[in-house]
Amino acid sequence: MTQELATSAPVSTANALELEDLEVEYKVRGAWKKVLRGVSLSIAPGESYGLVGESGCGKSTAAFAALNYLPRNGRVSSGSIHVAGKDLLAMSDADVRTLRSTQVSMVYQNPTSALNPTIHIGDQVAEVFTLQGVGGSEAQDRAKAMLQKVQISDPTGVMGRYPHQLSGGMNQRVVIAMALAKDPTLLMLDEPTTGLDATVEAEVLDLVAALRQEFGTSVLFISHNLDVILRMCDKVGVLYAGRVVEQGTVDEVFHNPRHPYTVGLLRCIPRAGARKDQGRLDTIPGFLPGLGETLPGCVFADRCALVQDVCRTDEPPLYDVGAGHISRCHFHEQAQDLPRNTSPVAVTEERPAESSDRVPVISTRNVRKTFHQDGHEVRAVEDITFTLAPGETLGLVGESGSGKTTLARLLLGLTTPDEGSVVELDGVPVAGAIGKRDREQVRSLQIVFQNPDAALNRRFSIKRIIGRALTMLMGTRGEQLDTRLRDLTHSVRFDVRLIRAKPTQLSGGLKQRVAIARAFAGDPKIVVCDEPTSALDVSVQAAILNLLAELQVKNDTAYLFISHDLGVVRYLSDRIAVLYLGRLMELGAAETVFGPPQHPYTEALLSAVPHVDGDERPRIKLTGEIPSHADPPSGCVFHTRCPRYIGDICKTEEPELKEVEPGHFWRCHYDVDELRTLQQSAPDTSVVDSSAGGTRGAEPPA
Ligand code: SF4
Ligand code: SF4
Repeated sequence: MTQELATSAPVSTANALELEDLEVEYKVRGAWKKVLRGVSLSIAPGESYGLVGESGCGKSTAAFAALNYLPRNGRVSSGSIHVAGKDLLAMSDADVRTLRSTQVSMVYQNPTSALNPTIHIGDQVAEVFTLQGVGGSEAQDRAKAMLQKVQISDPTGVMGRYPHQLSGGMNQRVVIAMALAKDPTLLMLDEPTTGLDATVEAEVLDLVAALRQEFGTSVLFISHNLDVILRMCDKVGVLYAGRVVEQGTVDEVFHNPRHPYTVGLLRCIPRAGARKDQGRLDTIPGFLPGLGETLPGCVFADRCALVQDVCRTDEPPLYDVGAGHISRCHFHEQAQDLPRNTSPVAVTEERPAESSDRVPVISTRNVRKTFHQDGHEVRAVEDITFTLAPGETLGLVGESGSGKTTLARLLLGLTTPDEGSVVELDGVPVAGAIGKRDREQVRSLQIVFQNPDAALNRRFSIKRIIGRALTMLMGTRGEQLDTRLRDLTHSVRFDVRLIRAKPTQLSGGLKQRVAIARAFAGDPKIVVCDEPTSALDVSVQAAILNLLAELQVKNDTAYLFISHDLGVVRYLSDRIAVLYLGRLMELGAAETVFGPPQHPYTEALLSAVPHVDGDERPRIKLTGEIPSHADPPSGCVFHTRCPRYIGDICKTEEPELKEVEPGHFWRCHYDVDELRTLQQSAPDTSVVDSSAGGTRGAEPPA
């Protein structure tokens, strides 16, 4: 697969990266354990290569090895690494350092860890030029030009700021500016958009794609998000247990996968508008093999539904399946016939018949929250009114800072709303502060957080964590406690044999099951799920989403579901609420909100999401950052970024939240027919089609 490099070949024609049969080991408790098992891949000049696979399969190790930057307990035990034709393993440490600082750049998931919090942005970017021998004002000028290249609109202002004064998306742009400042041969991006909002993610991806075109940089893109890899890469390698099990062009691998692991990964994602009432998500049961485990046959054998005896004894070679597509599976022709691991029957088919006149389990009226900061009033949440029925999921979407989490905290009583706000549980008003609510009300409303590590006490056993919740919320003790504990762990499919383990001994998925069990300990009526699957691999995410859907049907629990992954929100939600700058911009049935006519903000938000299934709409770029809550725009708060801006009316009159169709509300001056007509074609980024007539369809104000 990889080509021999002629030693006399000019650097410009050499592959940017070439790993040949690379084996990497980590020393754990005195023994060397294999992490990469003969990885071979090559990235041609200007090519973009995506590496996918679950956490722990070796993606980041491959990237670190390519820089010869392994942790102290790591070593390359065999194979070769060539960067721009140079043999990295044959170079002196000093030469490797020079190569790293001149030809290879790395961008990590968390931009703030790559930036020094105490140094101005301008000085940090200028330092890259200083290291190249460019001094003084010239370095500052080049830094400014580089910030302009990454589309930072006020580079002079940004240069004088510190990282904490910028948003996550802006910081990631700065890191990309620094990475490209040295005009690298190879740019490595390790989950660069994980944790960013869909709109910011789309902007960062657009930026990387444009810069790649301009600079001709080769890219190694590591992500667990297959949609992102499809959008960004020419080629993809699927890594499992330190082995590349499939490789080819992204089109070939994603549309004609020939390895059961790839098929499994693709099936886990809620795709093509999948919803819980259409069927459970498929999962990949089991776990990755342990670090350094001896695997005589196929590395995927223990989790593969197609496994046969030969798979356990004979390691499959790389089969060439045509069109540059290779698969390490003895039965690659049958990969797409892989039997499902999960019942295709929708969880909701087991739901009892609903009656439309059920009393809402929770309702809010004019809920508001004003914070006071530096003498300013910051309206984080403004006049939110909605209801939630038993067994229903309301998905909350919107960019960071839209008020999703504040709203959730207000319902839970963790933040006290402003005077005049009303929150009712089963038709009875509840106190704003959790301390003033009775036990019944507290146990009715529970939460599952994004990060179970932060939510579970590391010092306690799982038994104690869930047991405490049962005792505190339900008063359960003694023998009854053991029975209830067993039932609860069983209902979240947590192996009861692990009940004495501590959270640190469990995988992310198991920890999230414990967090869900704890939330359900008090038989809650409503569970707030705040990004519950964002930190999980797609395979684990699918299992957790199935579990949440099952528990909902079984217990008739209502969910308020927050996620920046719109595919996940769509899967689980019956209705969707779209928030912007603390206001409810649109509310309606999930299917209604996800299709036109939609509020212009929803339209832009959804257009930012890449799809493996090819259902990609034209991207609508939202210019600028979310305005400050302390100084919201006049009129419609979205008018400064709206791609469907009408004219002065948007600047001067705040639209009411109106019911535009039965059960479908939005806050926009357009009516439903106007937007239906307009949204037959995408806006020209900021210049709007004026087919609706009249004064409608002007440019948004600068
Ligand atoms: S070689 Fe066998 S176990 Fe491995 S992926 Fe193929 S069918 Fe599954
Ligand atoms: S009211 Fe105007 S600015 Fe606001 S969403 Fe509608 S068209 Fe856009």
